[in-house]
Amino acid sequence: MTPPPPLPKTAAMGTATLTIDLDALVANWRALDAASAGSVMTGAVVKADGYGLDAGRVATVLAAAGARQFFVAAAEEGVAVRQAIGPGPAINVFSGHMPGDTAMIEQARLTPMINSTDQLTRHFEALTGHPFGVQLDTGMNRLGMEADEWFAVAEIALSQRPKLVMSHLACADDPEHPENAAQLKEFQRLTDGISVPRSLSATGGILLGRDYHFNLTRPGIGLYGGLPFEAARQVVRLSIPVVQARMVLPGETVGYSCTWTAERESVVATVAAGYADGLIRAMSDRAQLWHGPEPCPLIGRVSMDLITVDITDLNVVPDALDILCPAQSVDTLADAAGTIGYEILTSLGGRYARTYLGGAV
Ligand SMILES: *Cc1c(COP(=O)(O)O)cnc(C)c1O
Repeated sequence: MTPPPPLPKTAAMGTATLTIDLDALVANWRALDAASAGSVMTGAVVKADGYGLDAGRVATVLAAAGARQFFVAAAEEGVAVRQAIGPGPAINVFSGHMPGDTAMIEQARLTPMINSTDQLTRHFEALTGHPFGVQLDTGMNRLGMEADEWFAVAEIALSQRPKLVMSHLACADDPEHPENAAQLKEFQRLTDGISVPRSLSATGGILLGRDYHFNLTRPGIGLYGGLPFEAARQVVRLSIPVVQARMVLPGETVGYSCTWTAERESVVATVAAGYADGLIRAMSDRAQLWHGPEPCPLIGRVSMDLITVDITDLNVVPDALDILCPAQSVDTLADAAGTIGYEILTSLGGRYARTYLGGAV
């Protein structure tokens, strides 16, 4: 029997295309770097697979642009980033030194940000002399040593020369929030006078001004084009093919649970992405898709693989509609769905055909 002919390897037209502009990413990193003094280092947070955009690629282009400090949430992520960027830059792990992580921390040369006395003991016992940092809680009550704990171990911890002492702001996206100044003051109380590099600010903190910069900043969302970095260049574009279009008569309904009813003779496009691709169900009847500058309302329920869009006013049936594009940022889409840009990005699905633009630094 002859084998079946090979499947054609042309670009898929049945799945959405996610285009990631690496030049915009690098421009955002440079702009955030320029927002602090020349003596302040600018790192890059690439946790959650680089906010959904591929941590390896993101870290590789940012390393080529000059980033020397990367941050991930967990050691496994650090291993993947190390494989992508090679031996030079530091890869810091926010969750610190967890049980079972020792071999990864050692082999991938990760720098755990130690969060507790338990972690400090684990680190000193398992990997004497291996680089580490210390994370302090200054009010967020999520990660890091409390003040009393820190003062009890500071002398011994500092004697082992940590690479970094850091904390994290809870409200930096709101410059008016009094918690910002309170955390700054607490960070100073815990760390003034030590001779270890200090870091307090993510994207929001960078924009709060120089008092918040210390020696190293840790932007994440701003690199990927999200708020609160309003001057960010957009990094992602998401274009979804139209599977079919149909005429719907007044009184007819569209989609699961019949939540949308046509009030006029309407043209409805069915496009090929749904909540399994990260277009969360909360977008139902609320978000918009775009055909160039023209908005088209998402109507009815978002389903697993498909959404339905009212394209009556377009007077054409396009090949595809955009849901992330110059007219609609991750934050605009997030607003429509009652969430934040971070969640839109990190939910971007695995079925998209991904295209990376630029990135030759
Ligand atoms: C996620 C995170 C960052 C990056 O925050 P953005 O708001 O995305 O810039 C920095 N530091 C810590 C501890 C984080 O958890």
